[in-house]
Amino acid sequence: MTLQDDERMIRAALSAAAAASDVDVPVGAVVFDADGVELARAANAREATGDPTAHAEILALRAAARVHGDGWRLEGATLAVTLEPCTMCAGALVLARVERVVFGAWEPKTGAVGSLWDVVRDRRLTHRPQVRGGVLEGECAGILESFFQGQR
Ligand SMILES: [Zn+2]
Repeated sequence: MTLQDDERMIRAALSAAAAASDVDVPVGAVVFDADGVELARAANAREATGDPTAHAEILALRAAARVHGDGWRLEGATLAVTLEPCTMCAGALVLARVERVVFGAWEPKTGAVGSLWDVVRDRRLTHRPQVRGGVLEGECAGILESFFQGQR
């Protein structure tokens, strides 16, 4: 996949983030199949659903697995997300066997795909997704900054 492909995927994730509720941190995730066709998208819905696990990545993975046609295995798939995944989501990405993870903004406080931990590329794992981080980083960080400024 080229950087342009990854930017297209992150733009889709940015539009998914825009669908988050007014009280949810705007993070969006989109899952694409091996041909780059969108399978599913979701926004963070932790506040809207009252569910601590309702991160965008988890919701998008669940929806993608329902339409992918190969059960829970998302082999060949790419997940694009506007923010570096946390430990829970990084673990889910490994379990779902996604091929690639592309993300926008780095999350130095809780990121588990290179910042604080690197869950998906731990050499002890047999399945290790490829990673590209920092794609359209400025735009992805910008929507978060706007959200948190509005909270004050
Ligand atoms: Zn998460």
